[in-house]
Amino acid sequence: MADLPLDSPQIVELKSRLFPWWDSNARDLPWRFGKTTPWGILVSEVMSQQTQMSRVAPYWTTWMNVWPDARALAKASTAEVITAWGHLGYPRRALRLQECARVVAEKYNNRLPQRYEELIALPGVGDYTASAVLSFAFNARIAVIDTNIRRVLSRAALGVESLGGAATVAERNLANDLLPRDSKESNIWNQATMELGAMVCTAKNPQCEICPLCEKCNFVAAGKPGLAEGRTRPRQHFKGTNRQVRGLILHALRSKTDAEPLCYRELVKLWPKSAQLDECLMSLDDDGLIELLPDKAIRFPK
Ligand code: SF4
Repeated sequence: MADLPLDSPQIVELKSRLFPWWDSNARDLPWRFGKTTPWGILVSEVMSQQTQMSRVAPYWTTWMNVWPDARALAKASTAEVITAWGHLGYPRRALRLQECARVVAEKYNNRLPQRYEELIALPGVGDYTASAVLSFAFNARIAVIDTNIRRVLSRAALGVESLGGAATVAERNLANDLLPRDSKESNIWNQATMELGAMVCTAKNPQCEICPLCEKCNFVAAGKPGLAEGRTRPRQHFKGTNRQVRGLILHALRSKTDAEPLCYRELVKLWPKSAQLDECLMSLDDDGLIELLPDKAIRFPK
């Protein structure tokens, strides 16, 4: 790995190019630019953890209209929460978010805490989410380290591909060292770098020709060595997986207009392989997403 060119004129140049790009190109997402509360920002971060922001936006808007703060979400029924989560995927996140809402409502009087140690202790909140909330909601000076930011910084500043997996010490040091000293600027830096990684400096096909950093990018200068090398994880197929079956089961439950349980006779019509169907019913029950009743009927937990 190349030496970290900290405080070099090149890094100063990267910053001066990124900010104007952000001003002209940032997507006007409903949780950006001071349009929501710290709680709204936390909800957007949880929803975006494994789902693209553009897909999250309509769900987020509906969700926040119904449950504008932690106290409102804390009072919702599990069925309402799982139903509103819709097709965002990985629905356990919805239950964790509601657990988080209950803690915020009860322990913090409905206001998100502003200390890292308190945020990271909340259900479903890890290092990334705690850092993102501190930076985006409270303008704290803290490096936010997600895959997009790691990729941009590693390519532009070090000239090497980010290899995925857990963030390395070098990547964390780099993110911290490049962070502007001013807290408001650090907020923009985090958001702009993340946005560049999502929209331009993508994993497989970086659009260097339209990138504001191109002329000063060490990765381009080096001939893009090992482009997309970190993407060694085989693409996960969805069709036929337990994820698909679990999604079908939850979708069928959400679609029921009455509050009656879904009987097993209806469930077997969803999926022909009964062993896999049963396995998915068990795992959904274990995750607290459904309640398994006698005769293998199911309903949302009360
Ligand atoms: S020039 Fe290309 S590799 Fe460098 S930061 Fe921009 S998109 Fe990424």
